[in-house]
Amino acid sequence: MLAHHCKECRSPLFEYQGEIICPSCRKKVTIEEKPKPEVAPSPKIPAPEKVDLELLESVLSEKLRELANQLKIERESEAIAEILKNMDLLLQVLRRVQEFK
Ligand SMILES: [Zn+2]
Repeated sequence: MLAHHCKECRSPLFEYQGEIICPSCRKKVTIEEKPKPEVAPSPKIPAPEKVDLELLESVLSEKLRELANQLKIERESEAIAEILKNMDLLLQVLRRVQEFK
């Protein structure tokens, strides 16, 4: 049994040997296909490489500036070493971001 009904007698239609048959009218029936609704294009998801590199770069630069200001006022060698370590990490990422562009 198919999801379609005969237009004349409203009986459910059957498929028989590749043809659509109305068992009540005893004849072949052609089913009018409903036009498929237009599928709205899904919003494009930005690819991972389309990350806002400019933004990332500016954030990294800002962090570097903050670290530089800390470094300027810092007196303890341990804290200075820590700041330098963080700066090194930031610079590594920044360099990678710049290579990526
Ligand atoms: Zn029929």
